Amino acid sequence: MAPPLPSPTAKPTPPRPSWRWFIVLAIVTLVWLVQSGVGSDAHQVVDYTTMLGWVRAGKVKEVVLRPDSITGTLSEPQKLDGHTVTDFRSPLPKDDRLVPLLDDKSVKIKVENEDSPLLVRILMMALPWVLIIGVWLWLSRRTQQMMVAGGPLGGFLKRGRKFEKATAPSATFDDVAGLTAAKRDLSEIVEFLKHPELFRSLGARVPRGVLLVGPPGTGKTLLARAVAGEADAPFYSISASEFVEMFVGVGAARVRELFTEAKRNAPSIVFIDELDGVGRARGTGLGGGHDEREQTLNQLLSEMDGFERGDLVVVIAATNRPDVLDAALLRPGRFDRRVMIDLPEAAAREAILRVHTRDKPLAAEADLAHIAALTAGFSGADLANLANEAALAATRRRAEVVARADFLAAYDKLVLGDPREGKLRPVEKKRVAIHESGHAVIAWATPEAEPLSRVSILPRGMALGATQQVPPEDRHLHTRAELDARLRVLLGGYAAERVVLGEISTGAENDLGEATRLASKMVAHYGMSEALGPVHYDIREDHAFLGQRIATESGTSDATVHAIETEARALLAGVLAAATAKITAHRAELDRLSAALLEEETLERDRLEELLGPRATPHDVLPIQAPVPSPRTAHS
Ligand code: ATP
Repeated sequence: MAPPLPSPTAKPTPPRPSWRWFIVLAIVTLVWLVQSGVGSDAHQVVDYTTMLGWVRAGKVKEVVLRPDSITGTLSEPQKLDGHTVTDFRSPLPKDDRLVPLLDDKSVKIKVENEDSPLLVRILMMALPWVLIIGVWLWLSRRTQQMMVAGGPLGGFLKRGRKFEKATAPSATFDDVAGLTAAKRDLSEIVEFLKHPELFRSLGARVPRGVLLVGPPGTGKTLLARAVAGEADAPFYSISASEFVEMFVGVGAARVRELFTEAKRNAPSIVFIDELDGVGRARGTGLGGGHDEREQTLNQLLSEMDGFERGDLVVVIAATNRPDVLDAALLRPGRFDRRVMIDLPEAAAREAILRVHTRDKPLAAEADLAHIAALTAGFSGADLANLANEAALAATRRRAEVVARADFLAAYDKLVLGDPREGKLRPVEKKRVAIHESGHAVIAWATPEAEPLSRVSILPRGMALGATQQVPPEDRHLHTRAELDARLRVLLGGYAAERVVLGEISTGAENDLGEATRLASKMVAHYGMSEALGPVHYDIREDHAFLGQRIATESGTSDATVHAIETEARALLAGVLAAATAKITAHRAELDRLSAALLEEETLERDRLEELLGPRATPHDVLPIQAPVPSPRTAHS
């Protein structure tokens, strides 16, 4: 994450108190009116029937009639609900019998045309308006305060506002583990900032804009900071989303100010995070905020074009969506150098773990290489998080060193979620054990499947159980046979429930979703369907239901979408048949495993090997579309 820009020092203007007092006064008056104006005098409020009863019994001496109420005095005090009542007040419905009755009982009648005194009525009518106007005045004053210099928005609006002078970060390339190629590419920038005269004397043009492209959390910001740290150059960092302000023109002004300040303090680095937030291709925006983004982008482009030969400012931007960037950004002289930052490989993961455990005492058995092997697909940020969670787990145990078990606990927490509170019913627990054993037995009995690492029926996060497989090394390609094996493992739980319990449950939803997505990709993206042949069709992956995959702009016809669906379904049906056959053939292993799971809840790799025996060895080279090995040959 990019560190926030130094914010301008705010000079709060002391608020003038007059309007505040005005509102306070209005509220106090309103409360007083509500309390005193209507209904809170010495009159006891009684219901109409009670009042009528007193009139009929001749207990009322005199009354005052108003449009909506009647007040009166009794000839002698009466007890009512524990109170002694002398004066009363009651609501007054339209009742033609009342006046003749009062007359009949010789009650003295006074008539008043209004319920409350004139002043009270005027105040009651005026007060809501006074309050509304007061709040409006207050809001407009607040907005003004925000806009003028010193207020939160004022800094952006005021022309010529200075970004505070940034300092060089303390990070160096040593803090960035792995990313060797990226560091090599960027060391040229460091050299340029440190010794510009060397480059100038040879007439070399050094890229002024570097685009770091890679998934979130892979260390792009860290790398940019390290470049600045190595070159001892001030680091101006801003996220593109901060440029795009509420008011059109503000983003562009901020870009101008940022570059002015960076040039003033050159040699310096400007880092723009999430460049795609502002650098999306122009003319493609939908809805509001579009003009503002375009203006900001244009300003950015013109600032980069305006670099003089002598300016020692390098702009480093980061994005994980290079595909949506405006082509103008990638032209020579702008972000013409791209540095790819990939998810770390096993060795880099180990190095990152090493960086993030520098200040943590590790137990001798906490083998970081092993943890790195477990964490394929983790980003640098995930690994930093893992190391921290492991240290927290050790602290909770009051241990002196961080042990392997702490890393494993942290891994479970990050990958699977926290353990669930609620307990499963025994029958549910049994079903989960059978389901997980189904996945596990197929993974064990299929040579092309990734080796089993752990099986557990402890509910965590959204899952009731988990079967973990860990590839022996990082994989960059998958063969058809390996994908078939993955599908079979995915449907293993579903197949096991069907074979053993004779009935399926809702527990396979996630497996089915994943299997369906993979099967559709195999058919539509990887050319793995006989019927469709070697083609690539764009299908949207964000829909769980095949039927909702809509033909995209690429022009995929309805008939093709239908064919993809039919093929994927056929593929999955074949996989289910193979998985069912395997489960049936290895029923003994499945029963053994599920019994052990019910007993022990979590089975680690060694225990799994003990229960199942050695797993089928993978073939090194697999023919394309290898026939599914029969359970017997696979196992024996
Ligand atoms: P985003 O795209 O989400 O902004 P990013 O690619 O800029 O992410 P960083 O913010 O640089 O990623 O990384 C987050 C944290 O992950 C870093 O502060 C650092 O602790 C850790 N990290 C990531 N990659 C590495 C690495 N190669 N070496 C050491 N630490 C790393």
